[in-house]
Amino acid sequence: MPGTELFGAEERKEVNDVLETGIMIRYTNDNLRNGHFKARDFEAEVRKITGAKYAHAMSSGSTAVATALAAAGIGTGDEVIVPPFTFVATIEAVLFVGALPVFAEVDETLCLSAEGLRKVITPKTKGICLVHMCGGMADMDAIMKVVNEHKLILVEDAGQAFASSYKGKAVGLFGKAGSYSFDFFKIATAGEGGVLVTNEESVYKIADVYSDHGHDHVGTNRGMENHPVIGFNYRISELHAAVGVAQTRKVPFIRQKNQEHKAFLTKALSQTPGISFAKICDPKGDSATFLNIFLPDTEAAKRTVDEMNKAGVGGFNYWFLNMYHFINQWDHIKELKTASKLPVQVLGAPQDYKNLSLPKSQEVIGRLISFGIRCTWTEAEMSDLASKVSACVTKALASVHA
Ligand SMILES: *Cc1c(COP(=O)(O)O)cnc(C)c1O
Repeated sequence: MPGTELFGAEERKEVNDVLETGIMIRYTNDNLRNGHFKARDFEAEVRKITGAKYAHAMSSGSTAVATALAAAGIGTGDEVIVPPFTFVATIEAVLFVGALPVFAEVDETLCLSAEGLRKVITPKTKGICLVHMCGGMADMDAIMKVVNEHKLILVEDAGQAFASSYKGKAVGLFGKAGSYSFDFFKIATAGEGGVLVTNEESVYKIADVYSDHGHDHVGTNRGMENHPVIGFNYRISELHAAVGVAQTRKVPFIRQKNQEHKAFLTKALSQTPGISFAKICDPKGDSATFLNIFLPDTEAAKRTVDEMNKAGVGGFNYWFLNMYHFINQWDHIKELKTASKLPVQVLGAPQDYKNLSLPKSQEVIGRLISFGIRCTWTEAEMSDLASKVSACVTKALASVHA
């Protein structure tokens, strides 16, 4: 959670600008806000880092990905390919826009693979909601080949990959629309917040309208604005946007530190037999929020987790057993337990979610352990962590083979 490590005077200054006027909404009251437009400033900072033509700040990464899907034209009955390894918000967003999730395999990139996509594409496939996991990026050359070959709509949930890029292009900008999360656990935080990005003006315009009850934001009389499409309230508050402004300005520094720290740990741990690393398709573009290691198999990973818990090593995630990041624990989705009926329940699911066969994803995520990189780490702290992890792995592997 690098952003939260650096929370300080800059964030307080931006928030105080808003508190001084009390204008906590991004729209209206232009004469009373002392010239402060924090949501607009937040969007400008995100455009600066990503090179996106358009950025639209919203209430969360979840509402941003749902809006990205809708603005890309994905809706009721559309089959959308999704990964079984993601924060569950991706799947919720697909379901809530009325679309039908189709699960495909991820690989050692921790993202959907071109091979996985090809296996599930049918004439009914409308799009892909690609997720760039653990601060990294999917293999975009291979993915784009599939997207273009089958003329699919690509939407990117880059919830955990703000400030990541592939061959010089920010993730989130490869498809029609992309989204970043600025929740409390991401590289930069607004407390709660998300930003949609796109290079297409028409997509941006729909997102802008859709996320604010249809308001077209033309003119100075909010009550008299036109409403070209039905929308909802996914607005970000000026207080959250203010935090987002200060945090986003710190991201180039955070990414630099993260990359240095990830390189240090990678070097230290590559000496340990049994440890390998997730595939990083463009190391220069890595936001490096996580160091992702592989153990030889799931059993070895589980034993390593046990050893690390015993040794008091913190700051890691074993996603395979996580309730919110891996499909094995998503009983509520597999059984479609809903508060009220969703389109998927009326139209029928395109796959038997309870009996999916995703052996590659099971194998890859089963042996994955991710360490959150801290941008404030000292070399001594990293050396200590590396030697502890190394010892735990060695012990775990000895017990597996015993
Ligand atoms: C964090 C995250 C989200 C959701 O973001 P919130 O801001 O918490 O709503 C969506 N997708 C992915 C991949 C995420 O990691």
